[in-house]
Amino acid sequence: MTEKFIPVADLRHRAALPVVPAQPQAPVGMLADTRNRPLRDLRISVTDRCNFRCVYCMPKQVFDKDYQYLPHADLLSFEEIARVARLFVAHGVDKLRLTGGEPLLRKNLEKLIAMLAELKTPDGRALDLTLTTNGSLLAKKARALKAAGLTRVSVSLDALDDATFRGMNDVDFAVADVLAGIDAASSAGLGPVKVNMVVKKGMNDAEILPMARHFHGSGAILRFIEYMDVGASNGWKMDEVLPSAEIVRRISEVLPLEPVAPNYAGETAERWRYVDGGGEIGVISSVTQAFCSDCTRARLSTEGKLYTCLFASNGHDLRALLRGGFSDVQIAGAIGHLWQQRTDRYSELRASQGETAARRKIEMSYIGG
Ligand code: SAM
Ligand code: SF4
Ligand code: SF4
Repeated sequence: MTEKFIPVADLRHRAALPVVPAQPQAPVGMLADTRNRPLRDLRISVTDRCNFRCVYCMPKQVFDKDYQYLPHADLLSFEEIARVARLFVAHGVDKLRLTGGEPLLRKNLEKLIAMLAELKTPDGRALDLTLTTNGSLLAKKARALKAAGLTRVSVSLDALDDATFRGMNDVDFAVADVLAGIDAASSAGLGPVKVNMVVKKGMNDAEILPMARHFHGSGAILRFIEYMDVGASNGWKMDEVLPSAEIVRRISEVLPLEPVAPNYAGETAERWRYVDGGGEIGVISSVTQAFCSDCTRARLSTEGKLYTCLFASNGHDLRALLRGGFSDVQIAGAIGHLWQQRTDRYSELRASQGETAARRKIEMSYIGG
């Protein structure tokens, strides 16, 4: 007998489950949302905790000692994460990124990496398995992460100047320790390392050139991220966003740049390379040049909710399905159904409506950046 498809919304009220006939599933890799965007990437948040208090992400005033993090039992287990990931891969996802919070705070993360590294795309290819980290624990863990099967890492670093960096991370963490983490990752074979710098105007934009000079010729790819209005606690204002075009202009005046074609359709970072052969940089212009039309990402929160946009107000409770005795076919059907209903394009709307696009948004540390 064919298994039945059940919409996720109905699964929350299992007692009164109206079981509807199975939807025809799109062929693997052909799943598209209402704007014809395929499902390609899954970002998995493995913890909502962090040892930093970056002012744009987990400001101290909100994430203080009384802040209620998720209890351990609410987190998806490694087995649950690997099961969901396998179903996403069957739907066409070939890129998994572990994030958080600070993912390296999750105990035994290497075990999860090893489980995910075993997954293959339906046509037998290995996955791109990456991790975004603040770098604080990377010097210690880089080798073990590589041995477990991690492909690459992205490391966040917002300044080279210690006082400015400490002002951003707000926990007195030193630049040298993050740089040691980046070096350890490169030596372990997790490169080319991408270094992500969030630029907040008036706070660290004076660090753009020192950062560009430092990573010029290093093999690492420095990427500048426009400060975004994620969550509800960072007090975001449009006039604190430094447009990427200005960042490229400032660097190019000193170290001339030329554009490079994207690696693949829908790449979020716009690529530029140094004319003198010193490598490349990227700019991620989520605010000034929205890329929703190419957005192929889904996000799985620490407690197993599926979000189809970074700026979503609500997630879909996959944990209820995982723990509710539903089969792989039913859960894959629910995921496929959710993606096919997807209409998200928050950044495009923000661009056309200015700051009026206010709504209740999920914190970045919870949903995973
Ligand atoms: N803790 C890890 C880290 O910092 O790399 C992973 C999680 S963090 C939420 C993922 C990325 O989101 C980081 O590169 C961080 O700089 C970025 N991020 C956080 N809040 C942001 C904001 N308001 N605007 C732009 N990027 C932000
Ligand atoms: Fe932590 Fe990363 Fe958020 Fe900074 S950006 S507070 S390191 S989760
Ligand atoms: Fe994707 Fe939402 Fe960001 Fe647009 S706003 S690029 S749909 S995550």
